[in-house]
Amino acid sequence: MRKLRRPLLPVVLVLLLPVGLTAPGCVTNPATGKRVFNTMSVEREIEIGEQAQPKFIESNGGNIPDEQVLSYVRDLGNRLAEVSERPELPWEFHVLDSSQINAFALPGGKVFMSRGLMEKMTNEAQLAGVLGHEIGHVTSMHVGRRMSQAQAVQVGGLILLGAGAASDEDWLKILGVGTTVGGSVYLLSFSRANETEADMLGVRYMSRLGYNPYGQVQVMEILKAESGGRGASGIERMLSTHPLPQDRIDDLRELIAEQYPESDSEGTYRFEQARFESVVLDRLKRLPPPRHDPDAQQKAAALQAYYEHMAGACGDGCDVATPG
Ligand SMILES: [Zn+2]
Repeated sequence: MRKLRRPLLPVVLVLLLPVGLTAPGCVTNPATGKRVFNTMSVEREIEIGEQAQPKFIESNGGNIPDEQVLSYVRDLGNRLAEVSERPELPWEFHVLDSSQINAFALPGGKVFMSRGLMEKMTNEAQLAGVLGHEIGHVTSMHVGRRMSQAQAVQVGGLILLGAGAASDEDWLKILGVGTTVGGSVYLLSFSRANETEADMLGVRYMSRLGYNPYGQVQVMEILKAESGGRGASGIERMLSTHPLPQDRIDDLRELIAEQYPESDSEGTYRFEQARFESVVLDRLKRLPPPRHDPDAQQKAAALQAYYEHMAGACGDGCDVATPG
């Protein structure tokens, strides 16, 4: 009997091996080639992005009322997506008429710049850096991976999302779409590792189009300056979804020095400052105030609450002092 058993062992191993290698949800990150855990199909990814997009645009002031700036951003975004690892996705690029300083991506290729962030920029390389960063979140499937992890935890017995199976509604809630806090929509935040990956990919895509990778560092400097200033409009929201700018500046400088040493020499890469000023900045200055201003909305809500509180405290016919 012993003699018979022996040859069975290699057969069992051969049968088990492929199962172990193709664990469900273990896929290759198209952008980095690394193996990652992601149970969301491409179809589902596109579906979620398309479902969430209208609500997201609407709750952030809609697109800016300037067709020329919109088509300029769309064109740059599409060219960056074209040189990414997932050019086949239904990419769309928007400029939200919002004072907040931020940029967002929904799964499946929907990317959003805020007007507030664009107004702080000084050249096209910076815009390419931010669009490239958001494209990087999509090409490396960060939302799908975050959702898969949440789902895996739930399956593991810890009820993370409340009782019941996660429906489309639940996923949209996780994405933050439709959940308004102080009038603005929050997206699910990524990990520090996700952000570093997106920064690296942003630099990769912008440099493929000839933009100077230092544009990406300049964007971080803008965010850093904003976060240090008083009345930093919307910057807290940016910081709630992104790691500290200084950490990202340090990582980016290291990456650029290592992989793009020619960024320092004149003429190798472009910033395109003059074009950005004439096509974007001059036109943004002529627009009416942003339709979405979370800070103004929060202030108005605080005022309203104060008046109600005072009216309740001293009854009818009582003069309510205006808060300073
Ligand atoms: Zn990011």
